[in-house]
Amino acid sequence: MNYQKIINEIYETVLPMQAMGRQATYIPALAEVNPEQTGMCVETLDGRRYAVGDSDVRFSIQSISKVFSLAMALSLEGDKVWKRMGREPSGASFNSLVQLELEFGKPRNPFINAGAIVVADILASRLENPEEDFICFVRSISNDTSIGYNDEVALSEYSCGYLNAAIANVLKFHNNLEGDIDRVLRLYYRICSVEMTCCQLAQAFLPFADHRREFCHSGVRLTTSQVKRMNAVMQTCGFYDEAGDFSFLVGLPGKSGVGGGIAAVCPGNYSVAVWSPRLNAKGNSVVGMKMLELLTTMTEESVF
Ligand code: GLU
Repeated sequence: MNYQKIINEIYETVLPMQAMGRQATYIPALAEVNPEQTGMCVETLDGRRYAVGDSDVRFSIQSISKVFSLAMALSLEGDKVWKRMGREPSGASFNSLVQLELEFGKPRNPFINAGAIVVADILASRLENPEEDFICFVRSISNDTSIGYNDEVALSEYSCGYLNAAIANVLKFHNNLEGDIDRVLRLYYRICSVEMTCCQLAQAFLPFADHRREFCHSGVRLTTSQVKRMNAVMQTCGFYDEAGDFSFLVGLPGKSGVGGGIAAVCPGNYSVAVWSPRLNAKGNSVVGMKMLELLTTMTEESVF
């Protein structure tokens, strides 16, 4: 498969679409990012890397980090995690408060904000230095020690995080948040603020494409079945209330973030990361989704 030729062609095709959509501005620091940037990186299980465009520019991974924090929580608590949240697509926006209230403080899944705040609570209550352990894990899985938090982004979100604070309070009311609300939210925002490039993200997702190999990175251990199931949750819940369309158009498990990034895996084959800041109405990168749709169409490789 000539991935380089394919992704070069994809890049040329999508460039005119860069102007479509709107970048996230509800986190003030994200509004300052130049939206005219697009990158893509494919990493195959046999160790080849193919990149195009702004694939080495760091961006805010935001909710893509929810995959890494879930991996840590599963490694610490195993199936106990599923007592505190479900595995169903939400069909609602990522920060919906209504659904959480109606469902008595049990988040639909770990990839909406409510679920990820519970995951942050698990890390905060089980680990002595959760911030340090989280970043060590991300560095280890990416094989890159230069990756870090962006504290300006974390603080910027903290200062305007009204809905997430409401979510945390609803969770606390329903006894689904053990720790101190402020402590857990600060950890959650730091986790969201991690900055990575498309190439670093593709590398970090490679172990999820390779569920037959033992998953052990910086003390985070997952069984092959846990990795397979994480892919299942990514497939059904990884794209806000657009998970069905993403599955229909792209056909890969993955996770998006409001920074405009998407990371996905073709199990047994490759991992891929794309980035372009402008989002569609559901919160997914317009160009990112198109690039992945073209990738699975042109390679005829997807999980289906
Ligand atoms: N930090 C963002 C929030 O809590 C993450 C949203 C996302 O990327 O989906 O709203």
